[in-house]
Amino acid sequence: MMLNRRTTLKAAAGLAALFVGLRRAEAADLLQGSVTQGALLRGRTDPAASVVFDGKPVRLSPEGRFAFGFAYDRKEPALLSVSVPGAAPLEQSLAPAPREYRIQRIDGLPEKFVDPPKEVLDRIAREAALVDAARARDTEASWFSDAFVWPVKGPLTGVYGSQRILNGVPKRPHFGLDIAAGEGKPIVAPVGAIVALAEPDLYFTGGTVILDHGHGVSSSYLHMSRIDVKPGDTVKQGDVIGAIGKTGRATGPHLCLRLNWFQVRLDPGLVLPVP
Ligand SMILES: [Zn+2]
Repeated sequence: MMLNRRTTLKAAAGLAALFVGLRRAEAADLLQGSVTQGALLRGRTDPAASVVFDGKPVRLSPEGRFAFGFAYDRKEPALLSVSVPGAAPLEQSLAPAPREYRIQRIDGLPEKFVDPPKEVLDRIAREAALVDAARARDTEASWFSDAFVWPVKGPLTGVYGSQRILNGVPKRPHFGLDIAAGEGKPIVAPVGAIVALAEPDLYFTGGTVILDHGHGVSSSYLHMSRIDVKPGDTVKQGDVIGAIGKTGRATGPHLCLRLNWFQVRLDPGLVLPVP
């Protein structure tokens, strides 16, 4: 299902070879996460190294920590290259394991539920630009490498990558993890962050917070009934950022939790402990 610890360990063991010879690399801490579609991978290497993933330089923290991720539908392998001054660059091709996502067909739906009305398209575009900008941040903080905790606990009612086909038209896959919980229940930061966005009323997602965990890794909290933070605030793991709601286009109170590496949508379920 969402988590596969064995794959994670196997991938980490295979990748260890990549980092052999890097002076300060610690075996347990090389690359965390499974090489699979939708996964966030977190690594650590010599702080003096330069890391290139998929042709783009990746930021390294002063401790040598870095992160990157695979899109939900990524099929072609990506090249990870680690160069330490005075040593030959180490390169490894990473082929993300394919996943099977849940597909649901719904036919005979009134058209108004299929597409948003024309008069809100400008608003939707404006709000999408705000969200994109929040996800584009590449800050120096390295909270992303900490162990995540659940922002709220409850039954999982929707998973990452699931897709609805409405009246024969495939809709965008669902990139969140839906956690059902009572209206007003507090939502906490899963790791430390700077608040990148706090908007009380976005068209689709209602009360929305985006937390910046550093190096392009961000998490989003949708449909909130209350927001307790503002952009620029720093929060620690466990700090309350707001409360569960059903604002925006939601049918009942729940948290839609999302995880991104820049604009790449990742599976939050893969960084959270097994419930
Ligand atoms: Zn959702």
